[in-house]
Amino acid sequence: MVRENEIRPSEVAVDAGLMFIGVIRTPWASRLVTPRQGRADGPVCRIEILDPWREALDGIEKFERLEMLYWLHLSRRDLVRQSPANDGTSRGTFALRSPARPNPIGTSIASLVGVEGSTLMVRGMDCVDGTPLLDLKPDRALFKPVAPPQASDFETG
Ligand code: SAM
Repeated sequence: MVRENEIRPSEVAVDAGLMFIGVIRTPWASRLVTPRQGRADGPVCRIEILDPWREALDGIEKFERLEMLYWLHLSRRDLVRQSPANDGTSRGTFALRSPARPNPIGTSIASLVGVEGSTLMVRGMDCVDGTPLLDLKPDRALFKPVAPPQASDFETG
């Protein structure tokens, strides 16, 4: 059943807005030495989940791959056109995966290596040590919804 804003008996809720829910620990201390994209055989990185979101990890160990969304906090945010090759030509920011963007959200598909309490060990990251985590979710290729929506879910009367 499609739902609006109700809370079900077994669910837990807190006040929410755009917030950082964790910290990404990587071997890279600066942007200059950080890979441009994560690799499946990259180093193990630690994803430290903060309160009150630790409980939100329940069930995460079932998934081999996770989609990570993080805030590239050291980026400039004012470039409309960029010149990655610095060769006199430029392209629009939205035609690039550059970290410089108006809302600097980075995404990576990471493989889950292990879970230790509220810390995840993953491979496949490409961000500086200390980068704030915005969200994580199962890779869509692995995720099976609880139940497919039915036509009756969308009836209003
Ligand atoms: N995989 C993500 C994506 O495609 O959305 C990010 C790709 S971005 C090209 C990765 C680069 O961003 C790194 O090589 C590094 O130069 C830079 N970077 C990494 N962490 C950053 C941070 N916290 N703030 C700003 N730039 C960062």
